[in-house]
Amino acid sequence: MKPAGFTYHRPVTVDDAVAVLAEVSPAGKVLAGGQSLVPLLNMRLAAPEHLVDINRLSELAYVRAGGDAVTVGALARHADVERDDAAYAVLPLLRDTLRHVAHPTIRNRGTTVGSIAHADPAGELTAVLALLGGTVTLRSAAAERTVTAADFFTGPMSTCADAGELVTSVTFPVPEGRTGAVWTEVARRHGDYAVCGTGTVVTLDDDLRVAGARAAFVSMGPEPVVLDVTDAVAGATHDTADWAAAGRLAAGRLDPEDDIHATADYRTHLAEVLTTRALRDAARRAAEVAP
Ligand SMILES: Cc1cc2nc3c(=O)[nH]c(=O)nc-3n(C[C@H](O)[C@H](O)[C@H](O)COP(=O)(O)OP(=O)(O)OC[C@H]3O[C@@H](n4cnc5c(N)ncnc54)[C@H](O)[C@@H]3O)c2cc1C
Repeated sequence: MKPAGFTYHRPVTVDDAVAVLAEVSPAGKVLAGGQSLVPLLNMRLAAPEHLVDINRLSELAYVRAGGDAVTVGALARHADVERDDAAYAVLPLLRDTLRHVAHPTIRNRGTTVGSIAHADPAGELTAVLALLGGTVTLRSAAAERTVTAADFFTGPMSTCADAGELVTSVTFPVPEGRTGAVWTEVARRHGDYAVCGTGTVVTLDDDLRVAGARAAFVSMGPEPVVLDVTDAVAGATHDTADWAAAGRLAAGRLDPEDDIHATADYRTHLAEVLTTRALRDAARRAAEVAP
């Protein structure tokens, strides 16, 4: 099929882009890498009257890595983030996770911000942003605002962004202290959306005892689910902690649905196994961090 007709806009500055979005709102849609939107247009599952192509907004083509956060502009491709050595040095979880996102050709074009704006409940970066307590910055013609990931994701493919707003960047905080983070998932083929995916962050104290343990999931609910499972392992040393108990605790709190890819029971089983494994690996990484 071919897309329904639309008017195509190609602004060259962010100011122009938000001005066009304001003018055509609510009939406009942002076009970033097009890896999700173009198939939707072709299948006529989306039929916006106006497309606002942001691929010339070079001012948003950046990855900025600092000691406490990595900020990704709306025109940074997944591959830019994946290959950014400074981002990897402070937050290896980003590269580790991006290697599970689709295939290299899609990552060369698809944007990390687009993936978050798209809010697919199977999109890995949504869970990573939620796990780290990240933020999303939005610009309209009238104002700029920054919202937490918890407030941004409001349901499957649904966010708090208004039709006239452009997501200009997302910020992934670097976890503080002696912390390790891991992404793991099961997909039918590498690069497919995960049947179940989990990211974990474990924080150890100076005696290598567990001070915090969190896990976030994709494909286990309508939006990224973040669970604190510290209770199951608090105070135990990283190598003796009952990570299986933490995995069970997480699985017991999840409520996935059946679909054509997997039953809810199978997903819950995967969540328990993957969470146990990922927490243990994250704790091992945390123990290797210099005090
Ligand atoms: C075969 C295939 C496999 C894939 N597998 C995975 C996978 O395993 N995991 C995964 O996470 N993703 C996967 N993807 C999706 C991929 O990651 C996309 O790049 C991503 O979902 C959307 O990014 P994009 O830049 O292409 O956005 P687009 O397709 O251009 O836009 C997607 C949506 O987000 C909106 N949007 C985009 N940018 C902005 C912005 N700056 N401000 C406001 N709204 C915006 C658009 O209006 C649209 O509604 C896959 C895609 C394909 C084709």
